[in-house]
Amino acid sequence: AAVIVAIDGPSGTGKSSTSKAVATQLGLSYLDTGAQYRAITWWMLNNNIDVHDAMEVATAAAKPVIVSGTDPTRPTITVDGEDASGPIRTQEVTSKVSAVSAVPEVRTRITELQRTIAAGAERGIVVEGRDIGTTVLPDADIKIFLTASPEARAARRSGEVKGSDLAATKEALIKRDAADSGRKTSPLAKADDAVEVDTTELTLQQVIECVVTLVGE
Ligand code: C5P
Repeated sequence: AAVIVAIDGPSGTGKSSTSKAVATQLGLSYLDTGAQYRAITWWMLNNNIDVHDAMEVATAAAKPVIVSGTDPTRPTITVDGEDASGPIRTQEVTSKVSAVSAVPEVRTRITELQRTIAAGAERGIVVEGRDIGTTVLPDADIKIFLTASPEARAARRSGEVKGSDLAATKEALIKRDAADSGRKTSPLAKADDAVEVDTTELTLQQVIECVVTLVGE
């Protein structure tokens, strides 16, 4: 039967690297749900939607066509047929995505997409995000919640972004996590039945092995 793996946690915990590697090793599909929220945010910005106007965002939420490719060795995302994988990583999108993803109509729309993709994955799928274990796929076979100290998370993030300043990265990251944890609709949270893995002192390889072992049990 298809195995469903939910990996949640704040940014900079190694969610994406871990999820892709685990999916690749186990021959499963992979879905980056953060990329979907980034994609809808990018579309809103391109279409002059005021992202701080929840009514405007809610009305527009149904419009963009978002398609995710689920091969863990080359994940893709398009918006209205256009490759969005580069532009969704800009600072502009990163700073606006929490506001957009807090709007219930956005979450309903994206959650539906996620459930359809998961149901269609024949061998199973690793789905990474913030609310996968709690809300999107509460019946997942394995739920992992990754954590790390704010210092470790900021250091990993600024290592990824060229020319970024560590203090500013840490501040932006803490602000985004607070917004994601504080929203009313499916906030960033650990499911009661999730296994928490603190990655602060672990290498990526160790985290991958740990998750592969948990999936195998
Ligand atoms: O994982 P990533 O940093 O790309 O996620 C970007 C943003 O998308 C998060 O900060 C959060 O606002 C939103 N998100 C969410 N629910 C998810 C995944 C991401 O609200 N399951």
